[in-house]
Amino acid sequence: MQRAEVCLDARALRGEGPLWDARDQRLIWVDIDTSTVHRYDPLTGCDQRQDVGQPVGAVGLRAGGGLVAAVRDGFAFIDPDRVMLVAPVEIEQMGNRMNDGKVDPAGCFWAGTMALDLKPGAGVLYRLNRDLSVHAMLRGLSISNGLDWSLDGRTMYFVDSATGGLDAFDYDPENGAIGRRRRIVEIQEREGLPDGMVLDAEGFIWVALWGGGCVRRYTPCGSLAAVLELPVSQVTSCAFGGPQLTDLYVTSARAGLSAEQLAREPAAGGLFVHQGQVPGRAPNTFGG
Ligand code: CA
Repeated sequence: MQRAEVCLDARALRGEGPLWDARDQRLIWVDIDTSTVHRYDPLTGCDQRQDVGQPVGAVGLRAGGGLVAAVRDGFAFIDPDRVMLVAPVEIEQMGNRMNDGKVDPAGCFWAGTMALDLKPGAGVLYRLNRDLSVHAMLRGLSISNGLDWSLDGRTMYFVDSATGGLDAFDYDPENGAIGRRRRIVEIQEREGLPDGMVLDAEGFIWVALWGGGCVRRYTPCGSLAAVLELPVSQVTSCAFGGPQLTDLYVTSARAGLSAEQLAREPAAGGLFVHQGQVPGRAPNTFGG
């Protein structure tokens, strides 16, 4: 059994969206509920925070510098000194917000929505093209969550948390289209809810289990290969970082935990790291 150690006692309400930025060797992550983007420097332990004015679910790197982000009102560009909404999404639906997202191998940014009250079927997965056009790719989702692409770029993996599993889609890297869908991992409710995910350089899939206190590693076909335990229950997402991309960073959440639970898991909302053997891959860049 492997364990991750806390590297930043961040006490985030809903830590999410870890992303390694090799340009300045920092781990970017978000706290959705406090509308903040964080930039954590593992060398100094310093964690800079930026208020982006509205809940932010995920960020990606832009090829030209700065970040692309999924914020409550749609897709935004975030620079250290400003936030610009570039493509509104579901702006008339006050009960929805953007959630998890990631840049695909074609340089487009995908992010999905969910209802704040978790209403089933209210979410949509969108693709922001390089020309800033927005395309609805999957409808009728409940909690649109983690996603990533296979090593050969022909398969997209995706989690709609409420369905209790992980699905694979055929993916066309030429035009960003998705096709045939199939279930590859089934996760029982008592094990937790699948949340954020990332693939490593061997093509294995790491999935955070909300309520499950762990990150699981699966083969590309969906067999359980390893479990990374955390000292907190609400594990939200993971991403590889560090100079060699061998450090797996894991985010977590404090929101909704009772005083008793917080006493049992004081590190809830922290940022964790596990130094592993298998490296990750450098994140794709938007427009790159
Ligand atoms: Ca999530």
